[in-house]
Formats: sequence, structure tokens, C-alpha cells
Amino acid sequence: MLSAPPVLVVSDLHLDREPGPTLSAFLRFLDGPARGASSLYILGDLFEYWVGDDAGFAAAEQLADALSSLPMPVTFQHGNRDFLLGRAYADRAGMELAPEVLPVELEIGGALFMHGDSLCTADTEYLRFRKVVRHPDWQQAFLARPLDERIAEAERMRGVSRGAGRMKASEIMDVHPDAVAAVLRGHERALLIHGHTHRPAIHHFQVDGQPCVRCVLPSWDELPGYLSVDAGGPRLLTLDGRNYPVESGLPADPA
Ligand code: MN
Repeated sequence: MLSAPPVLVVSDLHLDREPGPTLSAFLRFLDGPARGASSLYILGDLFEYWVGDDAGFAAAEQLADALSSLPMPVTFQHGNRDFLLGRAYADRAGMELAPEVLPVELEIGGALFMHGDSLCTADTEYLRFRKVVRHPDWQQAFLARPLDERIAEAERMRGVSRGAGRMKASEIMDVHPDAVAAVLRGHERALLIHGHTHRPAIHHFQVDGQPCVRCVLPSWDELPGYLSVDAGGPRLLTLDGRNYPVESGLPADPA
């Protein structure tokens, strides 16, 4: 059977304001493996923070040029760091803006794409914060502030989030199995693809006796990589096309 080109999925690049090594790696990826893809999905935290589409950060502008020149559709989902990325920038970059839970039809069946932060339901402190900053009133007020104030606030929140992360138990910072089961059940899907936790792996488990798969994308701060899905199944790969080394020591390729 002739298989369609793969769907590629990335997240958690955490690009800084100024161009750096991760932007260079991503531009090489866009000019390399991504050229052969049928579509590209960016599941959030593309940027370390986002303070408004008017900020004009050099790395973001350079990336918009590269993304908008791609031949295939590009879809962006917000992460917990770049949740303020808006339609103006998405249009410049030629990206579709996706909702928090995005059903996608893949060759291997229906999947759900998410950033993943909303699945970390044991982190009640973060979920409270999330509720505040995702409110349209808060966002409108924030975006109305002068750019230098917004940047200062984003830098401050980044510091707070890093400090909090170090204090929390490792299980609290991971997705909760009940939240994973609930979202799969709710959408009648058996495949979940997400980022956020920086724990790249392909997990096999059951929900209500049904076999399910959860693919976790890598963080580019550690080792850049992506998920490639075609008729052969999902594979986690490094930028040079090798199997991505996963934490558990199990091969990233389930086949
Ligand atoms: Mn995240």
C-alpha cells in the first residue's frame, strides 16, 4: 500500500526573543524533514514567552518568514508560555490556530493533539494560575500595557514558574492518568499526542479495556526532536532521523 507522507509534530522549542541555536535547528528542520511532510503541527511552547503579536521579537519575525514559505499546512496550538500568541502573528506565519484539544485524523486512526498542561491536574496551583491568565479580561488588560511592562512581567512569571517547578514533586508535574483517560474517553479516541512535560516517550496503556497510545514530544532545550506519524505508526526521531532516546530506556519506535 502506498503510504501518504508523514504528519510531523513538534512542541516545546522555547525559542528566545533573539535568534539562537534552537531557532537555527528549527529552521534546518523546516528546510529538511518538514519539506517531505503532509502537514506540520506545533503543539505549544514554540516560544519561551509571548507578550503580544506587536512585540516584533527578532526570532519570531525570522520564524514567521520561514513558516509562511512552507508548502504544507501548519497548525499551532497554544502552550502555557505562548498562550497569548494571536491571529495577527499566526497569519504572518501562515499558521492555523487550533483549540486546546484538537482531533486529527491520521492514517493510523483518530488522534487528539494537546499541549498537555491542562492534563497535569495534580498541579492545582498551576491550574488556578491558568484559569486567571486564560481569561479574556486578563488577556485584554495585559495586552493593553506598554511593551516594556509586558516583557518585565513575562520575565518575572518565567522566574516564578521555574522556581515552582523545582519545588514540586515529579508526579505533580506530569499528566494525570485520570485526565488522560477522561479526554480520550470524551472524544472516543485511542491516541493522544502532547508535549509540555519534557518526558519524551511512547506509552501503551488501556482505557476501559481498550488499548491506547500516548506520545509525548521532546523539549528542544534538551535534545531537539519530533514525532513522525505515517501508516507505519508514530515514531520519535532526532533531527538527523535516529530514534529519539527516551527516558524509560525502551525504544521510541514501538514497532
Ligand atoms: Mn508547556
